[in-house]
Amino acid sequence: MAYVYDTQNIFAKILRGEIPNKTVLETEHTLAFEDIAPQAPIHVLVIPKGPYQTWDHFAAQATDAEIADYTRAIQAVVAKLELSPGDDKQGYRLIVNSGEAGIQEVPHLHTHILSGKVLGRMLPG
Ligand code: AMP
Repeated sequence: MAYVYDTQNIFAKILRGEIPNKTVLETEHTLAFEDIAPQAPIHVLVIPKGPYQTWDHFAAQATDAEIADYTRAIQAVVAKLELSPGDDKQGYRLIVNSGEAGIQEVPHLHTHILSGKVLGRMLPG
């Protein structure tokens, strides 16, 4: 699979500092920030700093250090915002939309962290 990364996508611009963001957490390889159009009371996006388009691109080509850092950064956001099911906010949902079928709007891997209310069923219908 030949992955093509668009360096002009909006999250690449955020990573280059060309567009502001509300940072929740930053690590060596990962940035977490608030979604600009939240779909729940808590809506954070977690992105790798490297140029990866989709989850499968990242999983295939990122270094072990990047993958570990990304996974731990998602956990760190969950811990920081006290979203773990044992904590006050009682859980969360992770969503990674990939490509056309997943309706991925921004072609840079991002994991949505949603919480702050009971989110409803996973898919409509
Ligand atoms: P997806 O449909 O999975 O690609 O999600 C893209 C997400 O990026 C949407 O939830 C948008 O609200 C969010 N988004 C787009 N532009 C920005 C931005 N400049 N800052 C923060 N979130 C953004």
